[in-house]
Amino acid sequence: MEKKTGLPKVNVEGLKSFIPENEIKDLLKNASGDKKQVGDIIAKSLAKNRLDPQEMAILLNADDPEIIEQIKEGARTLKKTIYGNRIVLFAPLYVGNDCINNCTYCGFRKDNLDIVRKTLTLKELEKEVRTLESRGHKRLIMVYGEHPRYDPEFIAETVRKVYETKEGKGEIRRVNINAAPLDVEGFKTVKAAGIGTYQIFQETYHEPTYRAVHPSGLKANYLWRLYSFDRAMEAGIDDVGMGALIGLYNHKFEALAMLYHTIHLEEKFGVGPHTISFPRIEPAIGSDYASHPPYAPTDEEFMKMIAVIRLAVPYTGMILTAREPVALRNEAIGYGISQIDAGSDIGVGAYSGQDEISSDKKSQFVLSDNRSLDQVIGELCEADFLPSFCTGCYRLGRTGEHFMEFARPGFVKRFCTPNAILTLLEYVMDYASPETYDKAMAAIDREVRAYPDSDPRKPVLLARIEQVKAGKRDLFF
Ligand code: SAM
Ligand code: SF4
Repeated sequence: MEKKTGLPKVNVEGLKSFIPENEIKDLLKNASGDKKQVGDIIAKSLAKNRLDPQEMAILLNADDPEIIEQIKEGARTLKKTIYGNRIVLFAPLYVGNDCINNCTYCGFRKDNLDIVRKTLTLKELEKEVRTLESRGHKRLIMVYGEHPRYDPEFIAETVRKVYETKEGKGEIRRVNINAAPLDVEGFKTVKAAGIGTYQIFQETYHEPTYRAVHPSGLKANYLWRLYSFDRAMEAGIDDVGMGALIGLYNHKFEALAMLYHTIHLEEKFGVGPHTISFPRIEPAIGSDYASHPPYAPTDEEFMKMIAVIRLAVPYTGMILTAREPVALRNEAIGYGISQIDAGSDIGVGAYSGQDEISSDKKSQFVLSDNRSLDQVIGELCEADFLPSFCTGCYRLGRTGEHFMEFARPGFVKRFCTPNAILTLLEYVMDYASPETYDKAMAAIDREVRAYPDSDPRKPVLLARIEQVKAGKRDLFF
């Protein structure tokens, strides 16, 4: 009879923050390096080593344009040599916008009366999923407010529903979730439903700011959130997605704090985050704060931060969402972004247009990149990138896949590139518009030609390509 509310029982007894606020501030005040030192730090990263806070602070503090260019070039080299040109595509799926918290920057916050509240029923969820599948999506991140209704059982049920739902040849093969922190039992429940990554953002690691922008609700507890990944990992979830909401506090502080968070996880669990996100605050319905974030970095500062994070945590996937405009996203991909969402709509029920209320009235914030999935795929192919819907590692139990891509020589060539080619070809066969068809087929051709003839896997890949063309689906290495 313990849990009446469906909310977890918050317990932070004995926990201490592992984010050393003063140390970070000192580093940001004092760290500096010349071209030679920066070159050595970049070389350390290119040799596949995570950087230390002092080294990351030197990069973050760089303000000489030549040194900034050196850092960006380092990030581009790392991205090219280790990860290649693949970009994984996903879509967000908002399940419900009820919320007990009052995050100042968010349209879903409890006291916001301007937003229309909505939680999808299972039937409505199914419609959303069918729509996404009919557009070619294979990977989703499901998003929930924090509310007693969205308890672990509810989340698990919605995840199972997504996996069960098939439309034509379409299916969702990986479901990640972004949901409020659970207790260990709750995490076990959602893991059992087959989630891929558990993503949650600390928003700001600066505790005084955190307290100011999270005035009430469970989220007001900084430590409960800070230890979310510890509980998730104790429950057996080893792919976790870290993030900070950029604009609440100094972005350099947040970037360094994410490195400390990473180090904490490495030391305690032997593995850092699967992905890192750094969403910038966007205007949100009913939030003045979101229109005037106090610490908004310029685009140039933001871009430099992305390049520095790429170098500091070279084994981690990096996500940049459609909050950002097209040109900025395209540039950032070059610095190491490995996953982007495409064709996104963040209104609850918006993909399938399930009611008359405009999706803006149910959205959390406003997106800048409104291109369709088809357009994004066409443009990526044209720019020599290789869009991928691969879910091979996750389905074969190769968790921590991003780490393998990074650590195992030849892994990208043997697994990731062929899987990207096969999943892109599926998209082309089943969903592509005529323009995107041509661009994507040219990209596939380019990738196949670049695949070495001497590799014994090449004939297998060529055979699988023919199988996909003949109608077979879901082939992967
Ligand atoms: N309710 C859960 C939570 O707060 O962690 C999960 C879902 S919440 C809808 C997902 C994320 O959206 C938040 O972690 C926050 O970083 C981001 N977000 C909220 N308001 C935003 C805004 N105005 N602009 C950009 N991102 C925002
Ligand atoms: Fe609720 Fe999350 Fe929005 Fe905060 S960020 S108001 S917890 S949905």
